[in-house]
Amino acid sequence: MNDFTFQNPTTLVFGKESTDQLPQMIEKFTEGKNILLTYGGGSIKKTGLYERVIKLLEGYNVFELAGIEPNPRLTTVKKGVQAVKDNNIDFIVAIGGGSVIDGTKLISAASTSDVDPWDIVTRKATVESAVPFGTILTISATGSEMNSGSVITNWETNEKLGWGSPLVFPKFSLLNPELLYTLPKNQTANGIIDSMSHLLEQYFNEASNTEIGDAMISGVMKAIMKAGPVAIEQPDNYEARETTMLGATVALNGFMRLGYAGDWATHNLEHAVSAIYDIPHGVGLAIIFPEWMRYVSKKSPERFIKFAEDVFDVDSSLSDEEKINFGIDAISNFWTSLGAPTKLSEVGVKEEDLEVFAEKTLIYGPYGNFYKLQKEDIMAIYQAAL
Ligand code: NAP
Ligand code: FE
Repeated sequence: MNDFTFQNPTTLVFGKESTDQLPQMIEKFTEGKNILLTYGGGSIKKTGLYERVIKLLEGYNVFELAGIEPNPRLTTVKKGVQAVKDNNIDFIVAIGGGSVIDGTKLISAASTSDVDPWDIVTRKATVESAVPFGTILTISATGSEMNSGSVITNWETNEKLGWGSPLVFPKFSLLNPELLYTLPKNQTANGIIDSMSHLLEQYFNEASNTEIGDAMISGVMKAIMKAGPVAIEQPDNYEARETTMLGATVALNGFMRLGYAGDWATHNLEHAVSAIYDIPHGVGLAIIFPEWMRYVSKKSPERFIKFAEDVFDVDSSLSDEEKINFGIDAISNFWTSLGAPTKLSEVGVKEEDLEVFAEKTLIYGPYGNFYKLQKEDIMAIYQAAL
């Protein structure tokens, strides 16, 4: 592996009592009294979490930015920046999933200066400082609660792009598995698919010695695959929620890629699709990832054989090709069993869109650290996924 320095500054508070620790946690990071609550389309009001948080924040001046969309939009982020500036916000509390947290990260980074938030996303402006924020997680999927990445959609340009800064790690994240009980089955499935995709992106990496990473990734993947269907069938099964929640957090908080980056081309291919079709991230990944695996396994088969051995204890008497197909089919069939679609055409994509998607994925040039995709590779993967 490459030399590395690892630091993750987010304080993780996990368990049934975690939500109630909100005021004590805020006090650790600010003496100020002006709090901005950021949240999504209203699930927190239906579940009662909103009222609970308002009670916990008695004594604070609470301002709100509601309506951060799934696949959070630049326009909403700009409203948040204005709210921070207008109300001298000292601390932001993001309540929701990856979308609310990612939107909040850009609000946090863009509120301490007059830069255009989109310039931060497109790497034209660097982040010099950020308003501190913490999170209460209500859907486990992205790992955004304990990482420094964020993905924002600009509907004017139909671009969905990732960016990051060490300054936007959440100060704390409160993870109460009970808050996941109200998730609809499809959102639980999307979260499982996203967290497993993060593990896949990092398993297929550019490093030579990956023994520790392989052990961690395959262990977490097996645990998520065991608990995931239980969480879908029994939404209030605490242990299943606990496993999928912690699994999703560690899948993308840096632990799984000590000494390497991972591939990440499939996330890029998915973002191009959801930038135009606004589909859930997990749905796009479930369709595209197996096709990426099938395509790249033809070019670079060894790692796919080890994958089938590490994660699925594949029968050693099979041929190399059979082992590779076994591993890929096992992932794809598992996602289908959770109710995920398998084709882009099922979510409305048409053949003429593929070229547009391909151009979008190439904005920073050929992409992927395990296997660098050129335009013809990207087109072949999209075609197979159509
Ligand atoms: P999400 O978009 O934050 O939430 C999906 C839906 O779930 C929303 O409609 C939300 O409704 C609902 N919901 C959330 N909690 C709920 C609960 N407890 N009960 C009932 N409904 C609930 O989902 P996500 O998968 O966490 O985030 C996806 C975004 O993160 C995408 O934009 C993706 O590209 C990005 N992403 C980020 C990273 C990263 O590292 N930063 C990594 C991968 C993906 P309400 O809006 O009404 O609350
Ligand atoms: Fe993801």
